[in-house]
Amino acid sequence: MTLKSIARKNAVHVMLFYSGGCNGCDIEVVNAMLSPRYDLEQYKVMLTWNPREADVLLVPGVVTWQMLEPLKKIYAMIPDPKAVVAVGACAVNGNVYKNLVGDIGVNEEIFAPVETVIPVDVKIPGCPPRPEDIIMGAVKGLPKLMGAP
Ligand code: SF4
Repeated sequence: MTLKSIARKNAVHVMLFYSGGCNGCDIEVVNAMLSPRYDLEQYKVMLTWNPREADVLLVPGVVTWQMLEPLKKIYAMIPDPKAVVAVGACAVNGNVYKNLVGDIGVNEEIFAPVETVIPVDVKIPGCPPRPEDIIMGAVKGLPKLMGAP
């Protein structure tokens, strides 16, 4: 086990990237991460806006063309190993945007699901998913951070 994986075991930094969608999933992510009800900081799960210190990237919604390059850039900036979590039905399978993106997952303005843009490790269905499911999804990404295959 490396020093980095020990540090990550003791404090996991989660980054949220607003890629598109209706904001319902974004609100549930913020609810899961920051509300006193769940209080994830007591478990050393911290929300960060700095990709250089992030371990887990949460991506809710589809990816609009404006957010396509920023998402790829943010993904590249997060150090390996990292885990990407697609949050909500839009991110997992296109959901209400399916008719727009078609079978190949892209049109000129919207990209879905998120795995058509960057690799995804964990998928959380729901429209929007419950905060508990989002927390469990972030936890499912942890083995990858610890060096597990
Ligand atoms: S999954 Fe539902 S709540 Fe989440 S962004 Fe899509 S439409 Fe909105």
